[in-house]
Amino acid sequence: MRNIYKCVVCGTFTEDSTHCGKPAKLVINGELRNRLSHLMTYLLRHNPGAVGLSMDREGWVGINKLVNAIRTGGTQGHTHG
Ligand SMILES: [Zn+2]
Repeated sequence: MRNIYKCVVCGTFTEDSTHCGKPAKLVINGELRNRLSHLMTYLLRHNPGAVGLSMDREGWVGINKLVNAIRTGGTQGHTHG
């Protein structure tokens, strides 16, 4: 996968290394993006319990819950934010 950058001028996330005529800031490199993509797919499609996630009745998980679960590996309890 391609790197993701954030424009330092307008704040847009982009796969281009320049935006608004200036070098954009690297957010995540392509290899890590690829690994994160596979991890999210595994957790959401196959095994949310691996990191302590639970879905609602319609199969949704809050983005903050997902990010926090990935960051902590499901080893921590409730946290704020
Ligand atoms: Zn821009």
